[in-house]
Amino acid sequence: MLKRIEDYKKNLPVLEVYTAVQSEGSRAGYPTIVVRTTGCTHRCYFGEGGWCDSWYTSIHPEKGIYCFQDIIDAYDQHPHIKEMMLTGGSPTMHPKLVNELTHFAHERDIFITIETEGSHFLPTDYPINLLSISPKFSNSIPVLGAKTPQGAIVDERMIKKHNSKRVNTEAIKQSIEYHSDYHIKPVLDKDLSMVGEVEEFLKECNIPDHKVWAMPAGDDRESLMESYPEVMNFVRDRGWRFTGRSHIMAFNTERCV
Ligand code: SF4
Repeated sequence: MLKRIEDYKKNLPVLEVYTAVQSEGSRAGYPTIVVRTTGCTHRCYFGEGGWCDSWYTSIHPEKGIYCFQDIIDAYDQHPHIKEMMLTGGSPTMHPKLVNELTHFAHERDIFITIETEGSHFLPTDYPINLLSISPKFSNSIPVLGAKTPQGAIVDERMIKKHNSKRVNTEAIKQSIEYHSDYHIKPVLDKDLSMVGEVEEFLKECNIPDHKVWAMPAGDDRESLMESYPEVMNFVRDRGWRFTGRSHIMAFNTERCV
């Protein structure tokens, strides 16, 4: 048995708990409850695609405001929802919380999708149903001198921190082996400059094409629209899968959607 949460009323590094429609990857279309953790070892910057769209959990992390009981209450209030999207930040930084969620999901027959960049292998008492892995390729490295969403200036330290656990292939292979299912969700810019790097990664991890869901870069409607056509056409010809980001198309930069 791995470590678990004992006090369900204690504040956790959970910043958001809300209902939504899953809009990325192979579970797209399912009503779900989103549990968003705060804290991340990365500092993703996608150039024209903008900063990490949940920068308030990563680059400028806010403090968590929910306890475990709040998550239970959310499911009690929406009994038709049998899905969970565990996202961040980087949820794998919080092993006790993730393990406790697998127990809760097991009792209630809830399907957990965890959004992860794949930096850490995290065992849980019950395997996670779906790892949605977005390895951070070189198009995510912050550019020296760029301004963060809250006005800090990118320096060497930030770049080093970002790169320290980037594309941890060993952790990713171990995670795939341990948990129930997975897909890889690379973020592609409109110029498709990352494709070579993605191909190398897939080869190293022995990942078949039908497990790859390419996602256009963009943290708002406008930037996303620009990369949609190129990424869709590429996927059509390459034989991967395409995933849009319908929550951004529907609600633009609104939070908790
Ligand atoms: S790994 Fe994910 S949460 Fe962390 S900075 Fe990058 S995009 Fe944001």
